[in-house]
Amino acid sequence: MSKMKELDIKTFCISLAVFSIISSETNYMKSMAMKLFDAHCHLQDQRIVDKAPQLIATANGAGVVYIAVNGITEKDWHLVKEMSDEYCSVIPNFGLHPWFVEGKSPSWFSTLKELFEANPSAAVGEIGLDKSPLAKGVDFSDQVEVFKKQLQLAKEIKRPASVHCLDAFPELLRIMKDIGPFPSGVILHSFQGSPEVVPELTKLGSYFSFSGHLMPLEEDEAKKIVKAVPLDRILLETDSPDALPKNPIFFVPGNATLNQPANVHSVLIYVASLLEMSKEELAHISYKNAVRIFSFEGSKIPLE
Ligand SMILES: [Zn+2]
Repeated sequence: MSKMKELDIKTFCISLAVFSIISSETNYMKSMAMKLFDAHCHLQDQRIVDKAPQLIATANGAGVVYIAVNGITEKDWHLVKEMSDEYCSVIPNFGLHPWFVEGKSPSWFSTLKELFEANPSAAVGEIGLDKSPLAKGVDFSDQVEVFKKQLQLAKEIKRPASVHCLDAFPELLRIMKDIGPFPSGVILHSFQGSPEVVPELTKLGSYFSFSGHLMPLEEDEAKKIVKAVPLDRILLETDSPDALPKNPIFFVPGNATLNQPANVHSVLIYVASLLEMSKEELAHISYKNAVRIFSFEGSKIPLE
């Protein structure tokens, strides 16, 4: 081989390598340029609250434009409010979670109502029903009473409600039928219910939000659930600091077991693969859905 030819091949290989680095960078940048919405998480959780500013910056840098932060007890509502006052990407949600109904104060509901009056940008959540072993020892009739009050309130003030439901879909459906429909939307967060409940819940105004909680399920089962949901009702969330996805892209500094909003990218990749669509397409669809449900009157989010 002539010296010249050898040089040509070398130059070609180097340019090819440079080109492929640039194009994979471009792909990465392109995927980061997608707009995403973490429809449900808990940045006020004591395990990550001190890192919240950093985690919000990481999420925003990765294209996560909005983060719905859900309070779970009277004790953390002020943290959610402070975070929302400081960061325009944080959508505040206030609610009493079913696991914590027994610790409520006598004035919990009036405090909650006042919070919504003072914060027109807030949605309702996290509220719900739980008959799984995770809620062992929590009186179910107490859960029902607290849930109904908050769901009714969400309907009255025309805000969406983020709902946790484990092993209690018949009860959820009954209550939603009594109080509903819900033109402002109900989010079935970390949805893992059976495909059979989807049509009735959809009719009542529900959206279905998927998280890393879907990943331990058999792929076939997860696929059936995801495919049962109409495309215009799909949302993505992290439920961070819980539900760390199987292939997290981002790690919380100092604790690799915790999740963060930027990992909504991992949820996107998984759900897109189950739906057999591109992640760009699912990012577009789920972002549009989230903007639709969270752009109620008074919200921080302008309708696009
Ligand atoms: Zn949650």
